[in-house]
Amino acid sequence: MGDSSHQKLAIGIDLGTTYSCVAVWQHDRAEIIVNEQGNRTTPSYVAFTDTQRMVGDAAKNQAALNPTNTVFDAKRLIGRRFSDPLVQSDMNLWPFKIIGGANDKPKIVVNFKSKERHFQPEEISSMILTKMREIAETYLGTLIKDAVVTVPAYFNNSQRQATKDASKIAGLNVLRIINEPTAAAIAYGLDKKERFDRRRNIFVFDLGGGTFDVSLVTINKGDFEVQAVDGDTHLGGEDFDNRMVNFFVKEFKRKHKKDITESPRTLRRLRTACERAKRTLSSTSLLETNVEVDALFEGIDFCSTITRARFEELNKDLFTKCLEIVEKCLIDAKMDKSKIDEVVLVGGSTRIPKVQQLLQDFFGGKHLCRSINPDEAVAYGAAVQAAILSGQVFENSPGIVLRDVNPLSLGIGVKGGLMHIIIPRNTSIPTTISVDKFTTVVDNQKKAEFCVYEGERTRVGDNNLLGKFTLTFPQEPRGVPNVKVCFSVDDNGILNVSAEETRSGNKNGTAIINKEGRLPMKEIERMVQEAEQFKADDERYKKKVEAKNALEIYIYDIESFINDEEIGLKLLPSDQKKIKDTVEKASQLLDVQQLAEVYEYDHEKKELEGIMIPIIMKMSQDWDFSADRSGAVSSNKGKKWKSIVKNLANLSI
Ligand code: AMP
Repeated sequence: MGDSSHQKLAIGIDLGTTYSCVAVWQHDRAEIIVNEQGNRTTPSYVAFTDTQRMVGDAAKNQAALNPTNTVFDAKRLIGRRFSDPLVQSDMNLWPFKIIGGANDKPKIVVNFKSKERHFQPEEISSMILTKMREIAETYLGTLIKDAVVTVPAYFNNSQRQATKDASKIAGLNVLRIINEPTAAAIAYGLDKKERFDRRRNIFVFDLGGGTFDVSLVTINKGDFEVQAVDGDTHLGGEDFDNRMVNFFVKEFKRKHKKDITESPRTLRRLRTACERAKRTLSSTSLLETNVEVDALFEGIDFCSTITRARFEELNKDLFTKCLEIVEKCLIDAKMDKSKIDEVVLVGGSTRIPKVQQLLQDFFGGKHLCRSINPDEAVAYGAAVQAAILSGQVFENSPGIVLRDVNPLSLGIGVKGGLMHIIIPRNTSIPTTISVDKFTTVVDNQKKAEFCVYEGERTRVGDNNLLGKFTLTFPQEPRGVPNVKVCFSVDDNGILNVSAEETRSGNKNGTAIINKEGRLPMKEIERMVQEAEQFKADDERYKKKVEAKNALEIYIYDIESFINDEEIGLKLLPSDQKKIKDTVEKASQLLDVQQLAEVYEYDHEKKELEGIMIPIIMKMSQDWDFSADRSGAVSSNKGKKWKSIVKNLANLSI
């Protein structure tokens, strides 16, 4: 429960097509309010059954079982006529029924408590708005009347009026209806900066679950003017999910000769897994993730992987389409892209790194405003506006800070003094991210020290050390232990780090309290700027360390291989000598204190591979493991040699 000492709190509501979000200004900052499920956004769904009406998560969760009486997308209907071509084409996609009512108004037909009922879109929206108000009231412990509600910039008068009516039905006093892109700009305080100086052109890129909207807004001394809008009413995250679903449908057909598209339930389960995989690929530093669904179809378990590169490839044309729309909007506004002062990201799908990169490149490398959670930026801005309009804060009050994201990347130091990021900068908190791909670098390693850092630089030495702890391992060959590292930041910014060797269950960890170990805001800003400045340098350094590590591991594996008694006996003396000489030459490069260039390490490694690959191939023919260039290695000598042979012969197992 929050603070109930204010008598007249006003809330900001982002009434979205698929999700809605509510925020309030409290304790000198905008706060997103979580619903009873602990979620920061609530599905814009209303469901009717024989016994009850449900709104939000409960409605969405039962949608599959009750499709004809579960209503969503009311925002696509509100303020439109039944005969509107958009309504006519959307109708074909919805499982619920729409009919034309008096004055060409659309009506939604459902079965509720065993009777057919007709609802206007405003009524459905009012049910969602009521839910958002109740979420706020429960959290704040007080009744709420006043609200700022947002609408898309392209909404016409009738759509705005209908949204206002919906708010009235929900018992809200609408202080103002504001445009979503305007709210996003307010959230970033863009209305403040250089307010008395000059016009600023803000480009708002809003890519959500089902819709894509772009707006060009100019701010002049605090006044917002929408210059141009564009978009696609059916382009967003759901399309990206569908591409992945189709990809796996084909894979399933190939592997099992079965067509899963016959079963809607199967497709739905696969889509859920794909959406999860999509989020993982864009919210962690992993370049690949698993997609697993037990008993997906006819009892067959499905288990596959997808790389970030494949995901991007599958959606390439859709991403390009987004940029074409951006370009069109600028042409409509007769504005060159160089005149854009800020680019603001809104909508969950703007978390996709490729989307960010394409957009940034389009705007010539311009910094993108994305530090506020993209599904929450609009509600944030609405809450700021609500607080100003209700006299809680004044428009020129200094330092409106909207921050509940981790301001710097958090990670651990890995081999070569590199920073391995676990929670990227600007991830909204609370958050928990685990990565389980760490292992030991030498044989029989008994323990490892984990150093936790914050910062944006590649070298840990350039970042801020937050704490350390040690983890012990059972003695095993290099690469065998499997260490899972878990970073968790709670609401108060307290970071908990733990590591576990999953095979033995050995665990250890540390807690780092926000205020003590962490940096002040000014220092954070300096570090972020510095990282930007040194980005190219850091990248070069990282590549060198990686090339050096690769060579070092290669040599290490060769040495373990040839020093094994059994293998030593099987090697021809001439091969032994050739290997030893080349290893010695390559090792000289590792002994040099200063880092060498990437091509130097690569050259030495290639030379070693040139010797090792034919030897391994030759041995594989008459020895007790078989290897072929197509990728299969099976070794009777067990796991120990499997990974070494794989590395030495450059094969995949
Ligand atoms: P919105 O309509 O703004 O709430 O955005 C919802 C869409 O954003 C859904 O399609 C989500 O799958 C998508 N989304 C949310 N988080 C991520 C993420 N980390 N990466 C990619 N898409 C995401």
